[in-house]
Amino acid sequence: MTECVFCGSGTSEEQSEAMYKYIKCPICGEYSIMDDLYDDYPEDDEKVKKYSFKVSSFIRECNLHSESVPKLISNCEKEDNISIFCIENIVKKYPSEIDERIDRIILNLASLAKGRIEKPINLDKNSLPLLYCSNYEDDSEFQYILKILLNMGIITGFQGLKNFSSFQATIQITYDGWTKIDDLRRIRNQSKIVFVAMRICPKYENKYAVIKNAIDSTKLDYEVIRVDKENHNDKICDRIIYNIKRSKIVVCDLEEQNQGVYFEAGFAKGLGKEVIWLCPKKDLDDKKIHFDVNQYNMIDYENEEEIFEKLKNRILAIFGTN
Ligand SMILES: [Zn+2]
Repeated sequence: MTECVFCGSGTSEEQSEAMYKYIKCPICGEYSIMDDLYDDYPEDDEKVKKYSFKVSSFIRECNLHSESVPKLISNCEKEDNISIFCIENIVKKYPSEIDERIDRIILNLASLAKGRIEKPINLDKNSLPLLYCSNYEDDSEFQYILKILLNMGIITGFQGLKNFSSFQATIQITYDGWTKIDDLRRIRNQSKIVFVAMRICPKYENKYAVIKNAIDSTKLDYEVIRVDKENHNDKICDRIIYNIKRSKIVVCDLEEQNQGVYFEAGFAKGLGKEVIWLCPKKDLDDKKIHFDVNQYNMIDYENEEEIFEKLKNRILAIFGTN
């Protein structure tokens, strides 16, 4: 018996392969962790405690939605396979916005119901990562999240949710909840379109080709669209809106700080789309980026080869296991 470094639970370490420990944790789920990361993980550090729950959520979601066992490493440069994830990137990808977290919680509950619409779902301390809870000490956050879902009409209390105490609740997804789940799945899964927003100008044609190649190389069958590359009779701005609405991912290149790109990114964010930001390293260093978007995890690049690798890896990290 060993301890899970992320949540502190006693776990069973069932087997180890070369350089990795395989861990089965009742809270985080199943994962492999590179020996050096496991041995050096400073679990008593207060700073680390503040992000360990993010890793727990990530592992549980991998287990739940893709049935894959993620391999965790400490060196982001070695993140070269779709089942290998660097801790730093996992933490960066944790959704900062409450709406995104709630959407993911709803999808997690749907997976727990295993396609049976009437199925009561038992939630307890082991469900905390799937509810995006960071507080494992007392149940206030657990209860608060369930109250949000209850007030949204997504769930109903089964066997008296209002009286639940501690980390225990049995809930059911409502009709409105399932309708919302259908919408979320439609948006996330059906669209195969990646819309590229960038300054359109002959000198950036090669960069567009690199972006398109990076997306194609993920082999996720995405259709890459840039508005000037399409044949259509609509006004161009109507076409942009139409394409963003139907896309799954919007890739925004901020080179030259193009205002149109900022508008398209903002519109896509407002619709809850996955926006991937590209930005030349020099613009980041010179602090040219508008402060409203500074908080996002940009892909910085010094040359086009860097765009290829980093964009491909980012898309695979977000959608490769879905
Ligand atoms: Zn754990």
